Amino acid sequence: MQLGILGGGQLGSMLIKSAIDFGINVAVMDKNENAPAGKYTNLFTCADPLNYDDVVKFGKQCDIITIEKEAVNTEALSYLRDSGKQVFPSPELIAIVQDKHMQKEFLLKHDIAVVPSILINSKAELQQQSSKLPGCLKLRRNGYDGNGVMMIHTEKDVENAFDAPCILEEKVDIKQEISVIVSRNVSGEVACYDAVAMVFNNEKHLLDYQICPADIGEDLKDKAYNTAIKIANELELVGILAIEMFVTSDNILLVNELAPRPHNSGHHTIEGCASSQYEQHIRAIMNYPPGDTRLLYNAVGMINIIENGKPNDFTKIWSRPNAHLHYYGKINSKPGRKIGHVTITGSTTENLIVDIATVKNILN
Ligand code: ADP
Repeated sequence: MQLGILGGGQLGSMLIKSAIDFGINVAVMDKNENAPAGKYTNLFTCADPLNYDDVVKFGKQCDIITIEKEAVNTEALSYLRDSGKQVFPSPELIAIVQDKHMQKEFLLKHDIAVVPSILINSKAELQQQSSKLPGCLKLRRNGYDGNGVMMIHTEKDVENAFDAPCILEEKVDIKQEISVIVSRNVSGEVACYDAVAMVFNNEKHLLDYQICPADIGEDLKDKAYNTAIKIANELELVGILAIEMFVTSDNILLVNELAPRPHNSGHHTIEGCASSQYEQHIRAIMNYPPGDTRLLYNAVGMINIIENGKPNDFTKIWSRPNAHLHYYGKINSKPGRKIGHVTITGSTTENLIVDIATVKNILN
């Protein structure tokens, strides 16, 4: 069995780690010759996942093709699927998720609550919509880690706005940001992990740390869980899907965005659950039964390590019994990019929050 992964970042590395336990060979394609996952397979192809010919050529050597990022050529994936390859998630699903507007239309069609938005095709169009401010302007395509997101508070901010196809969302009074990861295998069996609370750095729109389980009360927990399963079924997902949601100050749950692949908000599942999100993704696309998603600890936290040009002394993390470091070994990583993460397990949420603060101090 030859599994091909489009994208060779850290999510790809962690997928390879899980694939090994199933005895599956993995081929990886990434346009960066130093892609982290490339060093863990002798089947690495340096080529562009957005290029039609590159994806077709790569896919022809594989039995199953999957993704670890959404920026891939879906026409090539459709061709491969139509010529007999298994492609999970489906090219149609990936195409919906690649475009924030299409994503929203899909969710609205299936009665899922989202943040209201309008289409904005250019900066000039945004200037004419000043009555809709303040709002959150998002590039329709190719945004990642907050890079395609900009708060537009007043007309003055329009000057620096993206001049490209966007959506302008209403500014939400966010009480909490959560993420739910759901899996669905080829036979349609679904499994869902506990909701994770994500705490963001407001300036960089970048995840600061996360805690599982999210403290949102039983009603919202059920709602988040049912919403995740409904979306997975409506999308006919095969694989895993992370669903980022907002809990508003009025306790309303709104879906923010979908990612049909292993996700940053699921890193904690490696140490925190019997079956990690990576294992779950492999199980889903191989049509194996879903693994156990229950948390093994009362609380589990995760901190991203961000490149800031300063060297880190990891010995202080390695010597902490409840901390597990994942260092991605990226070469020439740019400031602001994720270069690793630390999972921290806890007996209570209160203890965990103290430990997260300690580990964050070590990392700076
Ligand atoms: P990305 O896909 O780049 O991660 P997101 O859509 O998740 O972008 O937005 C990044 C962050 O910006 C969110 O986690 C949230 O903190 C903030 N944000 C996004 N949309 C809104 C909104 N409509 N109102 C207020 N804040 C928002």
